Amino acid sequence: MKNLKEYIREISDFPSEGIKYKDITPLLLDPEAVQETVAQFIKLLGDVKIDKVVGIESRGFFFGMLLAEKLKAGFVPIRKPGKLPYKIHAESYKLEYGTDILEIHQDAIKPGENVILHDDVLATGGTAKAACSLIEKMGGNIIQCNFLIELGFLNGREKIAEHEVRSLLSY
Ligand code: AMP
Repeated sequence: MKNLKEYIREISDFPSEGIKYKDITPLLLDPEAVQETVAQFIKLLGDVKIDKVVGIESRGFFFGMLLAEKLKAGFVPIRKPGKLPYKIHAESYKLEYGTDILEIHQDAIKPGENVILHDDVLATGGTAKAACSLIEKMGGNIIQCNFLIELGFLNGREKIAEHEVRSLLSY
């Protein structure tokens, strides 16, 4: 079994001072490590049938899509404002300075569908919380929120504590 942490590159002070950015692109370069990552995500899930995997723009798209294909589920992108062309639902959430907005297509999730939320990194949890809120407003049943990386010291999982939160790598 590969140690996936070996494929995560840490960049200090990117995109701003004091941030230790977790760069997952070395992992994406290695097809065997990618396969191993998908297999580990699949292992986190039980037998329940998943209807949709929701990935958060943009780094949640990489493994979100692979996971959806493996689970024979649909893939749903959650995007930044103004990117989705059809009718949308929107959710705003607080950042350290100001607010941001996430959007989803109105026909992406049907009431009662089993949904997984996926992103690359769980940091403070604000983004994941807003995404969960969108899914639940549409009647989606969140089975699991999963992340490649969890920054445990930021306690992001507390913001989405009502859901099952799983991550492959913790820091
Ligand atoms: P948050 O809302 O604070 O949980 O931030 C989560 C979002 O910001 C995710 O979409 C991540 O891709 C990104 N992010 C936050 N912190 C980092 C980090 N240290 N390295 C890479 N991405 C990060």
